[in-house]
Amino acid sequence: MPDATAALTALRASGRLMVMSAVWPRTSTSIMPGTLVRVSTALGHWVSAIRRARGVRSSAAMDLRPAAAVVFDLDGTLVDSDAALDAAWVACGVAPEDITHGHVLAAECARLGVAVEDYLAAYDPTAVVAFPGVEEMLAEIGRWAVCSNKRAEVGPRELDALGWRPEVALFADAFAGPKELPPVLDALGLDAETVVFVGDTDHDRRAADAVGCRFVWAGWNPRVGEHPGDEVAAEPADVVRAARGQLLG
Ligand SMILES: [Mg+2]
Repeated sequence: MPDATAALTALRASGRLMVMSAVWPRTSTSIMPGTLVRVSTALGHWVSAIRRARGVRSSAAMDLRPAAAVVFDLDGTLVDSDAALDAAWVACGVAPEDITHGHVLAAECARLGVAVEDYLAAYDPTAVVAFPGVEEMLAEIGRWAVCSNKRAEVGPRELDALGWRPEVALFADAFAGPKELPPVLDALGLDAETVVFVGDTDHDRRAADAVGCRFVWAGWNPRVGEHPGDEVAAEPADVVRAARGQLLG
């Protein structure tokens, strides 16, 4: 990151930088108050950027600091909406064996030959339920947000029905295509390196990779399988530990 590099260069030139590592040789014995924290932060961002550029995406390569906020996917992550989603498809004449999950609604409607309006009319947003342990997890997390492909006509109604008040909740209408994290990060006023994104699909993982943020699988969803090298939360309480800076297996 140019700003991190510039900051380090300036600190070294000022003679106020001492970094005892294999990367930077010892150049000074004088450290101003707060300098080490700033250097640590700058180095963390810098190393993360280099690792992202090299395609290294293991969470072990991420900065394991307490997260400033946790961003969640909605369907299949915070809520079990399978029954509600499937019932709407079936009501629209789709065979159960043709139903899949985790897609942008408009694309899936086009694939299955269903009008979006018909699907939305058949969908019951009060039929979704929180996965066990999610309510307790959310109560333990300070700042949290929702980033979902769900249509804005139903997503906020689901949150209302559950009594949830995320700081930011962006749905399909906020994105040009499938969900992406930059608009959520902008709304939170946070950098990607400071948040954890929790999701249940490969698209969620790609969205996290695209911005270089830490990703945790919602392993309590039975559809989430093995992902060697990735962080998997076996239960929602694990997300609280991850948000506090602990590495999950
Ligand atoms: Mg999902």
